[in-house]
Order: sequence, then structure tokens, then C-alpha cells
Amino acid sequence: LNLTERDQKVIWHPYTQMKNALPHIPIVRGEGVYVFDEKGKKYIDAVSSWWVNIHGHSHPYIAKKVAEQLNVLEHVIFAGFTHEPAVLLAERLLPILPGQQDKVFYTDNGSTAVEVALKMCLQYWNNKGIPKTKILAFKNAYHGDTFGAMSVSGRSIFTDAFNGLLFDVEFIDLPNEDNIANLKSQIANLKSKTACFIFEPLILGSGGMLMYEAKYLDELIFACNEAEILTIADEVMTGFGRTGTYFACEKLTNKPDIFCLSKGLTGGTMPLGITTCSNKIFEAFLSEDKLKTLYHGHSFTANPIACVASLASLDILLDSKTLQNIKRIENKHAVFLEEIKSHTKVKAVRHTGTIIAIEWETGNETSYLSSLRNLLYAYFLDKGIILRPLGNIIYILPPYVISDEDLDYVYSAIKSALEEI
Ligand code: PMP
Repeated sequence: LNLTERDQKVIWHPYTQMKNALPHIPIVRGEGVYVFDEKGKKYIDAVSSWWVNIHGHSHPYIAKKVAEQLNVLEHVIFAGFTHEPAVLLAERLLPILPGQQDKVFYTDNGSTAVEVALKMCLQYWNNKGIPKTKILAFKNAYHGDTFGAMSVSGRSIFTDAFNGLLFDVEFIDLPNEDNIANLKSQIANLKSKTACFIFEPLILGSGGMLMYEAKYLDELIFACNEAEILTIADEVMTGFGRTGTYFACEKLTNKPDIFCLSKGLTGGTMPLGITTCSNKIFEAFLSEDKLKTLYHGHSFTANPIACVASLASLDILLDSKTLQNIKRIENKHAVFLEEIKSHTKVKAVRHTGTIIAIEWETGNETSYLSSLRNLLYAYFLDKGIILRPLGNIIYILPPYVISDEDLDYVYSAIKSALEEI
């Protein structure tokens, strides 16, 4: 049996049990923007492998730091003990987050970073003797697939199997000029029951790379502040340079109370999640009363290797060369979209920072079951490009090291797909 067949016998992959799913391609090596399969075929990873490898694959600087840490301290329980990589990472990260963020809580991935944020908010009000159980979120949002994160994800494909078992969530439309006044009064009416509002700032990723303007999010955060509803920015996808600034919330005047970070945090080398908050929230958990503690902690919390990988990834991110690369990609994307936006098969184009989305005229199902989606996916794989269309929406979200030549190659493949599919 070859590796794909052995895999098929023993492994349950995410999202691919539906009939006609393509076989899994064995990948043996990654370097920069490329991954290579066992036959030596090279693929451009145009989606940074589920949006995590911001500096590309097997970055030598991160690899060196990780290898060094592996020989010093690979892991230690984080209850009752601490270590330099965890403290240093918190010290370096908190000052660059928008607004006043004072404490880092470590978890394992994006979903658990969200889970912690929700628990922090629900328990915050409980600890203050004002229990609130409702949560506010956007329709079409995606925040992860653990139970809390799933509850606030407004995507029925992920939640229908669990109806009746999820949190009490009110889903609201993305804000625009026409509905902002209504959304604000909706928030004001929810005041007494609602613990928090969780949102993906500026771009709903899995929901179809749906983009909305910072000025309206600013108004929603302001309305939440007035209504004593805590605000959670899920920057799991948008964090670490994706939208052209280090964090999407830098574009806001009103800053959120809590941040969720993961994906690009470690540069895609190791799993790690972070939830941050201000001392105002932290202090509501400080008490003689044991029940006011946040009882949450995972075996791999603050893994030192993952923290060192994050520190190395931050070093690269904060280097001026990376910012120049982000700007370069942003500018090239804009030129490309200008070129194709009037094509008859293009329904809409969207762009923020290093992310672009192109919506195909036909098909409107942002699902993995859509036949157009599978056609497009296979078409680009054949051309040596990893793109993961969301139904009829293609998006590019590349590592920042992608060269102009490789970007041009991806653009030209999209142009030929527009002619051929
Ligand atoms: N939040 C957002 C905005 C995401 O895009 C994702 C993952 N796509 C998550 C949370 C969940 O992260 P993870 O897959 O690491 O659990």
C-alpha cells in the first residue's frame, strides 16, 4: 500500500468523509512558500496551510530556536511553575496589542483561545454577582469547533448536528451604513442579559472572507461598552500582519476587552493559543473565594517550545523586511483585482492587506460540498497551487515571503480558471 492508502485505512481527517472527497496527498517536506509531495511535485502554499505559516515553511531561524529549546526544556507543568519563554512572550506581546492588555492566558489553539475568552466573560459577570448568559456574535462567523467556540459560530453546517446543546447566542448581521443604527439599538436592548460580543475584526474568514468596515465595528464596540457587554476580538486569523497592520484592531478607535490569538502566533510551527485581557477583567477573578478562580488549564498550556517558536516568529514579523513584504503583497493584490474585477464570471472581489477573495458568478454555497468548489480545488492542485475555495469563493492568504513571480503564477492560474471553469 502507498501512504495515501495506508492513511485511508487508519486516519479520520477533518472535513473529508463526504463521498467523492479527493485522496490525501502525502507531503514530505516544506521550504519557504512551498511544500513537496512524495513524488517531488512542488506546491505553492497560497493559503499558508490553514492561515498559519505566515513566514513560510521550515523557517531556518524558527527551526534553530526550537531545536535549541528542545535540548533545554521541552515541557513543564504550568500550574505552580513558570519559565522564561512564557514570560518573555507575554512581555513582548502585550505592549504591541491594541489598547490596554495586561495578562496572557495560554491555551493550545484558536478554538480553545476562544473557549477561554467566553468562559472569562461569562464568569466575570458571575463573579460580580450579575449573571449574564447570552452572547452576541455575527452570522457566518467562525470561531472554532469546541462546544463554546462552535456555539458562537454562525454556520449551520458546523452546528446543526448539535442543535439544542449549544449556548444562548444572538446572531447579528455584519454592520453597514443601512443597518448600523438598528444594530446599535439591538445591542442596547440586550444590555441586561448579554455577557459579551465576539467578532472577527474586519474579515469573517471561514464564512467566505466577508469584509466590513472598521468604522462600523467601532460603533458596535462603543454600543457594547455603553451596554456593559464585554468585547472579544478573535484575531486568530487576522493577527500577526494579515490585514496590513500587526493586528486588525489597530484600525479601531474603540479597543476590545479581550483578544484571542493563535495560527500565525508560532509562525505555523507549533500549536499554541493565547487569550489576553486587561487587569480590570483579571481582578474580578482574584478572591479569597475559591469559586471565583478560572478553573481552566490544559496539559500543554504554555509549552516552552511553542513559546520559543512564537518569540522567533515575532522577531521575524517585527523586522522591517517583513512589513515591506506585507506592503508589497498588498499592492500587488490591488493591481490584480483591478484587472479581473470586471470579468463576467466574477461576482465580487474583496481585499484587506494580504488577503484577497474572488467570488465566482455561479454557485453561492460556501460549503465543502459544492461541486464548483471541488472543481476549483482540483484545478489549482493540478497546477501546483494549494487554494481552498469556500464554495464559490477563492481566496489567497499567502506566507509573507511569497515572491512576485510566485504571486504572478497564482494570479495567472486564477485568470485561466476564470476562462476554463
Ligand atoms: N477563530 C478564527 C477566526 C478562525 O479562523 C479559526 C480557525 N479557522 C479559529 C478561531 C479556530 O482555530 P483552531 O482551528 O486553531 O482551533
